Amino acid sequence: MASPTNGSQLIAQSLKSLNVQVIFGIVGIPVIEVAEACIALGIKFVSFRNEQAASYAASAYGFLTGRPGVCLVVGGPGILHAMAGVGNSTVNATFPMLLLAGSSETSAGPTKGAFQQLDAVAVLTPHTKLAVRPPSLEQLPESIRDAYRTAFWGRPGVGFVDLPADFIQGTPKEVVRIAAVDEQPKTGGSIARISALANALRGAKRPLIVVGKGAAYARAEDVLHSFINSTNIPFLPTPQGKGVLPDSHPLNVATARSVALRGADVVLLLGARLNWILHFGEAPKWSPHVRIAQVDISAEELGRGGADPTLCVAGDITEVVSQLSASLGRWRYTDSSNWNQQLSASTVKNLASAAKKAAIVKLPLSYHRSFTLLKDHLEALSGGSSDDLVYVSEGANTMDISRSIFSVSKPRQRLDAGTYATMGVGLGYAIAAEIAYNHTHETGTTSRKRIIAIEGDSAFGFSLPEIETMSRYKLPIIVIVVNNGGVYRGTSDNSPSWGTDVWEADPEGKRANALLTSTALGFETAYHTVAEGLGGRGWRVKDEEELAVAIKQAWEYGAGPSVINLIIESGSETKLEFNWLGKKDSKL
Ligand code: ADP
Repeated sequence: MASPTNGSQLIAQSLKSLNVQVIFGIVGIPVIEVAEACIALGIKFVSFRNEQAASYAASAYGFLTGRPGVCLVVGGPGILHAMAGVGNSTVNATFPMLLLAGSSETSAGPTKGAFQQLDAVAVLTPHTKLAVRPPSLEQLPESIRDAYRTAFWGRPGVGFVDLPADFIQGTPKEVVRIAAVDEQPKTGGSIARISALANALRGAKRPLIVVGKGAAYARAEDVLHSFINSTNIPFLPTPQGKGVLPDSHPLNVATARSVALRGADVVLLLGARLNWILHFGEAPKWSPHVRIAQVDISAEELGRGGADPTLCVAGDITEVVSQLSASLGRWRYTDSSNWNQQLSASTVKNLASAAKKAAIVKLPLSYHRSFTLLKDHLEALSGGSSDDLVYVSEGANTMDISRSIFSVSKPRQRLDAGTYATMGVGLGYAIAAEIAYNHTHETGTTSRKRIIAIEGDSAFGFSLPEIETMSRYKLPIIVIVVNNGGVYRGTSDNSPSWGTDVWEADPEGKRANALLTSTALGFETAYHTVAEGLGGRGWRVKDEEELAVAIKQAWEYGAGPSVINLIIESGSETKLEFNWLGKKDSKL
């Protein structure tokens, strides 16, 4: 690389030496030159319509590749919008991101009222692992490297670097050393703790392993495969832990989730926290006598909630599970208390109930029926398996119901609203997945993946203009807008009058009143037409035949995004209970 003649080239070279291949963001003064300098060095710049979606994309890219995703924005409002992704990345603990933002000249001081002025370091310090303004232009590479390394070493999170305009435009006064960052060192667990954990597993009558998204992030699939197969312990994946082991694995008890949680006497959490997703590890969802063991890269996380501190091991999952395997030797769980029988009885019952729901043919289409048909079509179009399908899903019911229907066979091929239950992440995540899997080699996979975003109509609306981003970069993402006319269940008075595309007669003002409820959205909204206007293709789908035609045409369309506006029933088969509080049975 030629010696940088200005700050933007210095920034671009720093990123290049960190092996950054793509940046997500939106430019403006003063970061246009930074983006251009990066593009000149062969780094792809994906230009979004809103920093919120760009920051979501960068953080998801971090999860998918294991290295921080990079987001570049302007100062002030750009940072405020990108804070959505900062919070999301931090809370998910497996979505590393490097945020870079322009700022006013250093001579402006903190209070002069310069263009888009914000004391970004002060604002971001509580929400990031490291937020810095380099002390000089020559120290830009060091700050970028530090923030990048901090974002993914230890528990993943956010590193931030403030880029003042005079640094971006200035000339380095001396030759600056630009260095790369190694992979983070993997730490194993303490021998005494490993042996205590091994003893607890040996003594368990009804053991269970919970595979969280920390295991997916840790690339623990191979180690876990042999561990589960050799120990014969049933496992339960969390929503984004799905695929670390294939959903079809005989020891997967996801379809017996409630029985597994309630009955287990020793549980090993691998990269999963005892938060709302796991009902805090508390009764009545869990047995009051359960012993919960935990492996996590973050020592601060261990022992939180109901986890037994004496059975907690700080370390990287791949390392600790290998140590545990060695400690357990040839030991294999043998069932002496009908545990397997209880789990399989529940599986059989739940599968039968799901199959019954999926078999009901009616109009408007139901969630279960339309999702089951979609899954079958997609797998058939993909050569008979889900190996090359990547699902992104958000929206309360859409995400809840789709989770169990769209099975996955590979790790990191399912993204959803995550720990924060963030709505609006879907389109940014889908773009990140398309770029990570099909435009770089960073995921390590070689076959082409199709990205399918299954979006509730409300969730889709949060970042709808990113369909234009997909069109501009010709990303053949398939978006299914699951249109039940509202948030949660919409409203039961909100159903389309079938035979027409819109609600026409409303003499009693019933429809108008329904739209005044807080959960109602217009099911007539022509998401498919909007998609066409934004450069993609669109279909409105109301029945099974239309669904089959649309999905096939969407699959075959390779030149940009496809949006299927899938009209389904509102007000039924769905719930308005607040499941995330852990009060109700959830189909995680
Ligand atoms: P889920 O949503 O799947 O239940 P969580 O987000 O609650 O998962 O938990 C993920 C956990 O994984 C976090 O506590 C994080 O610290 C941990 N983690 C991230 N990377 C690793 C790793 N390489 N090894 C061990 N734990 C990890």
